[in-house]
Amino acid sequence: MDLIVIKSPREQELMRKAGRITAEARHLAGTMVRPGISTLEIDTAVRKFIKSHGGTPSFLHYEGFPKSVCISVNEVVIHGIPSARQILREGDIVSIDVGAYVNGYHGDCAATYPCGKIDLEAQRLINVTRQSFWKGIEMARKGKRISDISHAVQQHVESNGFGVVREFVGHGVGRNMHEAPEVPNFGPAGHGPRLIPGLTIAVEPMVTAGDYEVEVLPDRWTTVTVDRSLAAHYENTILITEDGPEVLTVTGDGAYD
Ligand code: MG
Repeated sequence: MDLIVIKSPREQELMRKAGRITAEARHLAGTMVRPGISTLEIDTAVRKFIKSHGGTPSFLHYEGFPKSVCISVNEVVIHGIPSARQILREGDIVSIDVGAYVNGYHGDCAATYPCGKIDLEAQRLINVTRQSFWKGIEMARKGKRISDISHAVQQHVESNGFGVVREFVGHGVGRNMHEAPEVPNFGPAGHGPRLIPGLTIAVEPMVTAGDYEVEVLPDRWTTVTVDRSLAAHYENTILITEDGPEVLTVTGDGAYD
């Protein structure tokens, strides 16, 4: 088991900066979602944005991932590969996951955006996914345990009739994009490492309209619901402080998307 890395005040400041650029890149991507655009155009714009702010896209070439951003449409839960051939259509829901590596530290965040006018049920899925993140991080306080977050996320999702993905989980983040500890979105409360100030984690509920089982397509990345029901994703990088959670992936204007 990898050690959990607690960040010094200096490192926390560097992670705030990485988080801000990552959140601004996510926001830019979200503003581009519209019928007729290709997912590659969004990927290109985000890559340029991150580079122009002195960073590197965290996902580019990560374990062979070929693009800078993960763009996951409809039944794709995570790790969708942007493509010139994939054109967004009215009614799609589009999950965009962005990571930026800036001055030695990573920020990691995601959100699901509507493309034009979408079904009420699809909008409810997006809303519940986002809310479940906030329910989870209400528990992200000194002295609580990791699975207190997990349990709060699961309760909110399931009480709204949706499913929560088990196979993929949140994670510590810092000098490495994926660090200990794992942060599941399900499970009983009261387990796992204790939360202490200086811990930085990515909390990222992945929520399905139908069954929570997922499968990875033959491209070895694209992860879809087995029943092909819609999925949504919401993620922020957070810091545990003496006073509670601080969201690091926030734009200079204070927006979380
Ligand atoms: Mg993540």
